Amino acid sequence: MELAEAIAATTAVLAPHLDRASAGEGPVLARPPVAEVAERLQLARWIRDGGMDVDALAAWLEDYLALGIRLQHPASLAHQVAVPDTPAAVADLVHGAINNPMGIYEMGAAAATIEVTIVDWMVRQAGLPQPAAGGVLTHGGSLANLTALLAARAAHAPDAWTAGAPHDLALLCTPSAHYSIARAAGILGLGTDAIVALPVDDLDRLDPAGLPRALERAHAAGRRPFALVVAACATSTGLFDDIAAAADFAEQHGLWLHVDGAHGASALLSPAHRHHLAGIERADSITWDAHKLLRVSGLCAAVLVRDAQALERAFRQDASYLFYDDDETGDDAPGPDLLSRAVECTKAELGTKLFLELAARGERGLGEDVAARFAVAHQAWALLRERPGFSAPYEPQTNIVCFRVDGDDAHQVAVRERLLADGDVHLSSAVVGGRRHLRLVVTAPSTTAATLVDTIDRIAQASSAVCRSSSRCTPPPSPGPPPASAG
Ligand SMILES: *Cc1c(COP(=O)(O)O)cnc(C)c1O
Repeated sequence: MELAEAIAATTAVLAPHLDRASAGEGPVLARPPVAEVAERLQLARWIRDGGMDVDALAAWLEDYLALGIRLQHPASLAHQVAVPDTPAAVADLVHGAINNPMGIYEMGAAAATIEVTIVDWMVRQAGLPQPAAGGVLTHGGSLANLTALLAARAAHAPDAWTAGAPHDLALLCTPSAHYSIARAAGILGLGTDAIVALPVDDLDRLDPAGLPRALERAHAAGRRPFALVVAACATSTGLFDDIAAAADFAEQHGLWLHVDGAHGASALLSPAHRHHLAGIERADSITWDAHKLLRVSGLCAAVLVRDAQALERAFRQDASYLFYDDDETGDDAPGPDLLSRAVECTKAELGTKLFLELAARGERGLGEDVAARFAVAHQAWALLRERPGFSAPYEPQTNIVCFRVDGDDAHQVAVRERLLADGDVHLSSAVVGGRRHLRLVVTAPSTTAATLVDTIDRIAQASSAVCRSSSRCTPPPSPGPPPASAG
């Protein structure tokens, strides 16, 4: 298969697919049984026989795209992943063709230099001290959280690398922390029992007044608290913990402060929203995903640390074919070998995606893009609040909105399932304050106040349909004309 020809054929299928999805044509997603999908894509035959040429590729791609999710669709409102922009997509294509795994400088000087530059830019956005601060890009926020907590463990228990993790450490976080935090505790050998659940308010935000009691509880259990994790923002609600209050407490008690900004750190780029992150400049470590709000494909995340050396100390290991002592290479190494501070060995050219995005839009343009998604989410909240049969418990701070349709927790789940089965609207759900909510995340530029009115109508219809079929609830009032503020 010749590259230029294959790319042309792919683009000829892909570009109209993306246009149709953005225009709201076709279902948001399809979920046929896996055996049916394997059959339609002729997976077994292609694997056995090979021989896919450019024409066959184009035909096959049509099916492949039809059987996937259309994130560009205005009613694609379920998850936090970005709708990739063209410059970022081009970076993926180039990476796919050249494969410069730049964890070692000699394996891609351009990509490695871009990564270092992008990390430096992120460090400055977060206001971490320079030049001491540093970081690395990782394949996802979960890995960034793991890496940050590894650095925290190394700072408090330097022998853990050789002797194994002490069994009496305690990690303080809210119950609504992303699940990757608990996983990191498991993977790092701290054990999930090391997690001390912090008190929260009725929207699952950290209650700073409860921090001293949590610390006492950890001590009473014979544990040594070493790290405090806050959400900026919480995955479920999109609401920010009070970082400054957490920083005060962490400072007083010698705790490593990790700000999980996987989703919300991108708000730093918007002058209208960055106040939600006040205090982030006091963090010991920060996780920041570009593949959520910055229009790049998965994956592209960063772990940033206040003291770059802390990251080097987190990984103490030898592999003679990769790591060289300084006296072997001399001080004049032309560039950094980033694998000394990352879990990954082979790594993709993650920084190039974000760089090309910035190169096209500029940091201000990208910040405006973030603010635009937040604004549409705010409009969604305003519409839901006014609509009979719906309730929305808080004013959103990001592009994430939680709400309920009249009915019990099981009804929320049933409505989502119904919408999923129809394929017209894709929502997620989350437990907030102990109650199941429907959850929408505005990521597509095609989602506007106008498309939301239609989407909310469909949700109301699905709710009525579920009520009729289960006779468990009274149907909500039928959709009326859109409120005047719908614009
Ligand atoms: C999405 C998210 C993560 C996980 O990031 P991945 O890139 O999906 O691994 C971690 N923390 C928070 C707060 C998130 O929203």
